[in-house]
Amino acid sequence: MKLVVKKERCPQNHPCPSVKVCPVKALKQKKFEAPEVDEEVCIKCGKCVKTCPMRALVMEE
Ligand code: SF4
Repeated sequence: MKLVVKKERCPQNHPCPSVKVCPVKALKQKKFEAPEVDEEVCIKCGKCVKTCPMRALVMEE
């Protein structure tokens, strides 16, 4: 499994709420761009997936 960022679903006009819920700071956001995930750091907990209202963060096989 890995976390995938669906950039086309992100309006890229606000601070990403999912960045704040990640317990290991695996998500980084530059300005208001779609966040990027550090796969080495992500523990695949799924918290960011539940937090994003646009479903821009997806856990894929
Ligand atoms: S799945 Fe969990 S650890 Fe990975 S980026 Fe999302 S909140 Fe952070």
